Amino acid sequence: MRRRSFVRGAAGLTAGVTAAVTGGRASAARKAKRPRDTRPYEEIREVNEAMVKELLAGDRDGWRPWQWIVVHHTAAEHASLEGIDRYHRNHFGDPLGAEYHFVINNGKRKAMGLVEPARWRHQELAAHLFHPERAPESLAICLIGNFEERPVPEEMTDALARLIRSLMGALSIPSSKVTSHRAVDGRLTQCPGKHFDLADLKSRLEAS
Ligand SMILES: [Zn+2]
Repeated sequence: MRRRSFVRGAAGLTAGVTAAVTGGRASAARKAKRPRDTRPYEEIREVNEAMVKELLAGDRDGWRPWQWIVVHHTAAEHASLEGIDRYHRNHFGDPLGAEYHFVINNGKRKAMGLVEPARWRHQELAAHLFHPERAPESLAICLIGNFEERPVPEEMTDALARLIRSLMGALSIPSSKVTSHRAVDGRLTQCPGKHFDLADLKSRLEAS
């Protein structure tokens, strides 16, 4: 796979997602009619746990030697994994689609706190950092929403902490290697937004 060719495109990730989710009035109207998934988070938490358990069970031979976990946001409130997938496939020419290993939904397009596995299934690196050498072999988890503009809902923070704890356990990743896009790439990005609290996340990871 020509990884190099789309790595340079990482700078366009956030802008790209925004463009992908705002495209087409007709499709927006069609999507608006779809009933919202209003299942309570207590139910979604069980769904997440079963999914993650299944994902992390069994044969680990094909897994990459993952070392880091990096948190992002879409900077767009109505994004979905399908839209991100399509946009990244078209924009970066990457047949594997979404440049995130997992996404966490915000209740707008899919249920609040719902975790969806994405690139994880392919066990391939993602083009999600400007300086990938600062967090080599890193998994990308993307929060759907714009957390430069509003606080991260408690349900999403809880789902994120639970997912990361499971990954830390399965992959032997210490909490010192759990970080945010901004912490890796510094001034180049605000991702995952000024309301994302890395210290709070770390305290949740260390409390368990
Ligand atoms: Zn990011």
